Parts: sequence; C-alpha cells; structure tokens
Amino acid sequence: MTNRDTHRVIPLMDLRPSGLAVPAAAFHADTRLAANGLIADLRGRALRDLRISVTDRCNFRCNYCMPKEIFDKDYAYLKHTDLLTFEEITRLAHVFVAHGVEKIRLTGGEPLLRKNLEQLIEQLAALRTPAGKPLDITLTTNGALLARKAQSLKDAGLKRVTVSLDGLDDAVFRSMNDVDFPVANVLAGIEAARAVGLGPIKINMVVKRGTNAQEILPMARHFKGSGMVLRFIEYMDVGATNGWRMNEVMPSAEVIALLQSELPLVPLEPSAPGETAQRWGYANAQGQHDPAAGEIGVISSVTQAFCGSCNRARLSTEGQLYLCLFAEKGYDLRSLVRGSASEADVQSAIAHIWQGRTDNYSEQRSTLPADQGAPVKRVEMSYIGG
Ligand code: SAM
Ligand code: SF4
Ligand code: SF4
Repeated sequence: MTNRDTHRVIPLMDLRPSGLAVPAAAFHADTRLAANGLIADLRGRALRDLRISVTDRCNFRCNYCMPKEIFDKDYAYLKHTDLLTFEEITRLAHVFVAHGVEKIRLTGGEPLLRKNLEQLIEQLAALRTPAGKPLDITLTTNGALLARKAQSLKDAGLKRVTVSLDGLDDAVFRSMNDVDFPVANVLAGIEAARAVGLGPIKINMVVKRGTNAQEILPMARHFKGSGMVLRFIEYMDVGATNGWRMNEVMPSAEVIALLQSELPLVPLEPSAPGETAQRWGYANAQGQHDPAAGEIGVISSVTQAFCGSCNRARLSTEGQLYLCLFAEKGYDLRSLVRGSASEADVQSAIAHIWQGRTDNYSEQRSTLPADQGAPVKRVEMSYIGG
C-alpha cells in the first residue's frame, strides 16, 4: 500500500487564520518592557530559537505536509505583498536577538524558492547577540535546489543546513514527495552542501509507518560515518490537512530498537538546552561511542513531548508570531513593522507576547480523543515552518 492509498482527504478550511492582536499593555508607558536578553514565558522557558518561514510555497507535495489534493493549482498562496520583506524580517530578527535568540532557522514551504534568499542571509549574518556573538544561522530544505545554491548560500553567511530526506529508494522517495522528484538530485544537493562546508549537516527523515519504515536501516547505513547526523522524526499531527492517524506514527523507541538490531547504539548527552532530538552514538566493539561512526537523533514529538524545554518562536511568512507549532493563531507583528511602531514598541510587543506563553500542545496530546490529534483548526506547517 502506498502513502497515497492511506491518505484521508480533509476539506479545505481556514488555513491562515487572522492574527491575534498584540496585548495593549505592551504600549502603555507603565507596563512597557524593554529587551534584556532574559525573557521567560509562564512556564519559565527562555526565548532562544527563531524559525522564520520565508515562503508558503513548495516544489514538493509531501503528503504529510502539503497534500496535492489541497495544495493544488487553485490553492490561494500568499501574495508577494503579503510576505514580510527581507528588511522587515531583519528588523524583527534584530529585536528577537535582543530578547535572547541565538539561533535562526530559515524554513518554509521550501525556503530556497524565495528569490534572492542570499540577501536575507547576508542581513541576518550581520546581526550580533547582546554579547557580541554572531548568530547560528541555518536552513531546512528539501534539497531539490541545493546543488545549485550551496555555494552562494555559504558565501552569504549561512553556517549549515538541514536536509529533509525520507528514504534512499527512488520509488519510495518519488512517491513521498509526490512530484516524482528523483532522490539522486537531493543526494547531489547534500554532497554540494558538504563540499562547500555547510556543516555539520543534519538529515531529517519523517518516518511514516506503512510508507517508509523499510528505509530506516538503509538510511542509517548510508549516513553512518559520513559526519552527517541522521534524525528520525515521528510523523506529527501538524496542520489540518494531512489526515494524521496515530497508527501511522512509528514511535522513536521502535526506531531505536530496529537500528540496535544491526547497528549498536549508546545514548549520548544533549548537546544544547532545548534540543529537540535525543542523541544516540554508534557503538564500537567495546560498547562505547565511536565518534568516527557518528551519531543519530530521534525526535519524538508525539510519544515523548519536549514542551518543557521548548524555547522556539516561529515567524510566519506574513509576519505572524506563533508560540507553538500546533497553535491555531499567531500574533500580527507585520502590522507593527509596517506601521509606525518604534523599535521599543516592537521589543515590548514581543516581550509581552512571550511572557504570556503557556503552550504545551504535545504534552496535552495524550489527553485528546484517541487517534485524532487536536481539532483540525491548526495552521499549516508549510506556512509557519517546521
Ligand atoms: N521544505 C523544507 C523541508 O522539507 O525541509 C522546509 C519546511 S518543512 C515544513 C520542515 C520539516 O518539517 C521537514 O523536515 C519536514 O519533513 C517536516 N515535516 C513536515 N510535515 C511533518 C509532519 N506531519 N510530521 C513531522 N515532520 C513534518
Ligand atoms: Fe515541501 Fe518541506 Fe512540506 Fe515537503 S515537508 S511539502 S518539502 S514544505
Ligand atoms: Fe514547543 Fe508546541 Fe512543540 Fe510543545 S508542542 S515542543 S510547545 S512547539
């Protein structure tokens, strides 16, 4: 059975809800907040990581993300004038950095489809943290345009890339991207990124039971010892259109057990606070981590929620700030940067929004009706980025 056969089509609904207004207290003289690099939300979580979606368009139609039946030629993508300009993105990023953001990930849709993306990267690469350090700037891509763009991305100041790759078998890969795109071209993109030094490269594989679980071991064999970190992601109930069902999720524990049957692994410590992936190292004959063989990661968004350390904010293509991947609405920052708001206004707005944050959807998922995930009003992942 292919992933197409199991796909449930869900009718199109309001996929881009109107934005939430910034709390009015942000603009009152006596409740105004300035950035000090230390804001925390109501669960004590800092703001460290900003994901910026630069386009809602994509050249793939992965059916766990942008199913063809919904994202067809009639789908109303954002107009160019709705998108944040590079100047607007940079202005907002500057404020996020003042609040403590140290890492920026460009995403989408497919970020490499955004024209002149290199210019944005140059602008972001010029930002400095309050301590004067450059940012960790990275990008998640499906790799289709990477062979062509790796050098110019590197020259613009991009540090590294994450490439999504759901299998090595050409037929499986073509069926999952659903536009018949050959796997060899993505592998060439990965090689180009490696050759220009866009590393360490991470490879993201979404595992969907019944679709590509048979690719887990071939993927692990292929990337073991390559210096690249392969990460297995549990298929998530993001958005409102992918027809998610729990029985298509392969829990990370099962992925690890499968890998262990052939490639012994040892658990590794997290390398950074708020890290989404649990790290496992390939073991040597003595049962110790062999750094030359490298490591893998599992991102257990469904079976082991990591909301407690979630320090990520998401800026949508049209400038709405989302506090969670599973949020139904975002806060409209575009009207601030397009209006007469000062830098101090934007600082105070972001501080008030983040300080009121309580989101922990993945922790609540288990309390929702079995097998369904949350009611389907959530925004699409292609719009706020992964
Ligand atoms: N187009 C780029 C790409 O695919 O890498 C960037 C955007 S994509 C939305 C970001 C990441 O989200 C990808 O690694 C993709 O595999 C992942 N993703 C999308 N839908 C998902 C889902 N339902 N469950 C888990 N991961 C998903
Ligand atoms: Fe496009 Fe990435 Fe979504 Fe696939 S996962 S449809 S490549 S945005
Ligand atoms: Fe963060 Fe929301 Fe994911 Fe929890 S569910 S880890 S709060 S994005």
